[in-house]
Amino acid sequence: MLVLPPSFPIGGMENPRLTFLTPTMIAGDRSLVDLIAHELAHSWSGNLVTNASWKHWWLNEGFTTYVTTRILEVLYGEEVATMNLQLEQEEAIESLKDIPQAKQALLTRDPDTGSSTYTDEGLAYPKGAWLLRTLEGRAGRAVFDPFLRGWFDRHAFQSVTTEQFVAYLRSNLLAQHPEVMSEAELGEWLHGAGIPAGAQHAKSQRLVALDATTTAWLKGELTTAQLDTKAWTALEWMKFLNDIDKEADKARLQQLDAAFGLAKSSNDEVAFRFHRAAIHAGYREVRPQLQAFLMRVGRQKFVVPLYTALRANLDDRAWAENLYKSARERYHPETQTSVDKLIRQR
Ligand SMILES: [Zn+2]
Repeated sequence: MLVLPPSFPIGGMENPRLTFLTPTMIAGDRSLVDLIAHELAHSWSGNLVTNASWKHWWLNEGFTTYVTTRILEVLYGEEVATMNLQLEQEEAIESLKDIPQAKQALLTRDPDTGSSTYTDEGLAYPKGAWLLRTLEGRAGRAVFDPFLRGWFDRHAFQSVTTEQFVAYLRSNLLAQHPEVMSEAELGEWLHGAGIPAGAQHAKSQRLVALDATTTAWLKGELTTAQLDTKAWTALEWMKFLNDIDKEADKARLQQLDAAFGLAKSSNDEVAFRFHRAAIHAGYREVRPQLQAFLMRVGRQKFVVPLYTALRANLDDRAWAENLYKSARERYHPETQTSVDKLIRQR
């Protein structure tokens, strides 16, 4: 594994035998190792069995994302895997707001556009994984795991299409267990927008408990000093910051930052979510830390949503355009293209 400079525009690239990684996965507490699991899983889904064209991209990324949480389950147990999965599913649903309906199907990518915007690519990861999770949940692992293993064995060293997957699914799972998924629902997953109504949602007990804390804190029934965060993992911080985004005002965010130093967190997933909430709340006192973040990190997953949030009001927008003048040359051309597009939009 080769850790690249912070301008590396994506999380990782699964080059056979030499995965490239963003340094933003190094948080100091090993909390973001799911990215390692993801890139390793690509040795099978992506590098051993490869999508025939970008139109079938979900066969690489959806399968890999599915396998990632299975690896986390083996390493850290069911609860941690379920927390990861729940967050992944919630963020997928949240992302639907920003993706045109026509681009929400699994089988939709234009084979000619090798790299489109990060959100269009992004949905294939959790949605593809969600289809496999739903099949697994209904069929049970005793049936699903040999089915999945067989997919890799039969298609090793080949390029595959969605049509091949559907044919394999029909003859090796649905023929024997037609109750697992109807043809209509399968069509909805592959060609429809959004997440089908029958999708199985992950529910983590730890995150359910966190919901109660978040709600109480937002209502003011719980003060910031009363937040018992000692046992929180990075995932709980990420979920908490997702849920208070656009809800917590400047004063509450100020208290949070004073207590936990979130704007300068060494975990970029946490710092990113804090800054997104700070922008939405107009908490401009943390601009120096935001500026440092945007000058250091060029990963599109963080940079694009932050510039997007900064476009929402004129003062932030002017500040962001000015900052981008010095930050631009630090970014990878793919990130530059994405942010250029945002900055040009009026
Ligand atoms: Zn991947």
